[in-house]
Amino acid sequence: LLQLYAPLNFLGSIYSSIRNSLVDLEHMLGLLDENVEVADPANPLPIAAHLKDAPPVSVEFRDVHFGYRKDREILHGVSFSVSPGGMVAIVGPTGAGKSTISRLLFRFYDTSSGQVMIDGHDVRDYRQSDLRAAIGVVPQDTVLFNDTIGYNIAYGRLGASPADIEQAARLARIHDFILSLPEGYNTRVGERGLKLSGGEKQRVAIARTILKDPRLLILDEATSALDTHTEREIQSALRAVSAERTTVVIAHRLSTIVEADEILVLGNGLVQERGCHADLIARNGLYAAMWAAQDSAPSEPVLEAESVSRA
Ligand code: ADP
Repeated sequence: LLQLYAPLNFLGSIYSSIRNSLVDLEHMLGLLDENVEVADPANPLPIAAHLKDAPPVSVEFRDVHFGYRKDREILHGVSFSVSPGGMVAIVGPTGAGKSTISRLLFRFYDTSSGQVMIDGHDVRDYRQSDLRAAIGVVPQDTVLFNDTIGYNIAYGRLGASPADIEQAARLARIHDFILSLPEGYNTRVGERGLKLSGGEKQRVAIARTILKDPRLLILDEATSALDTHTEREIQSALRAVSAERTTVVIAHRLSTIVEADEILVLGNGLVQERGCHADLIARNGLYAAMWAAQDSAPSEPVLEAESVSRA
């Protein structure tokens, strides 16, 4: 456990980055399970966790109001839907509530009013463990275990065969890199092993998620600047994992969401604009302004957390 805390201490001052990387840890440790009121229903509905035996899920937010504290509402009535296999991207400034939306899908918290629906049923109708098994996250910053890179991928589905692990690694465009390591899949990574770059860690996370084969995918896109080659590799890896799968993207770099079926521009706890990329550009509003601003920016700053964790 201490091994997990150590890297987090480094990041102590960077509150928002920590929260994002904790999404992953929330599963493992229940660290942020502050909300003890979230309880399983007496008669939970079944939900198939994997794609193999079930089609992708539909997702719907119906007039969702939510605040972490009663005196401060964060979402003031958010509605959207994603059809099975579709992709919605959520953009907006830091603090707009993008990550909050992904936490509500997992039911880390209950809404104060309105409904979060998966496959046409309120998430409160499902057992929490089933819900969390059915949803996969590719977080912004992946925490690696002090173990082999093979184990770090296999964590997506413990007990997966070496062939399955390799196939996931291939799809995530990390297999060739792994073969170039001194001990291949048995190379130790993490704080006490080989340090991986942000782009490599992200591909490990993608491979893990491909193995998990969830019915709903949440991509919390990294804010860190990646070189063009890495960016392209990651794009193609993400395409592999999101194909045929219902996907919610929390987008930081607008270039990755051009293909989304619907883009929601979140601001002040409300959806300010919605539509596909072309519609939003034509509308010449907030999204178009963000797009123009991004285009003219020389380069995005590397996320501080990234440089700290690799130091
Ligand atoms: P985004 O992902 O768009 O940057 P978040 O969903 O993380 O925004 O946060 C939305 C708002 O909720 C912010 O004002 C943030 O400070 C607040 N917030 C996030 N997590 C918590 C928490 N666990 N407790 C209290 N407030 C929180």
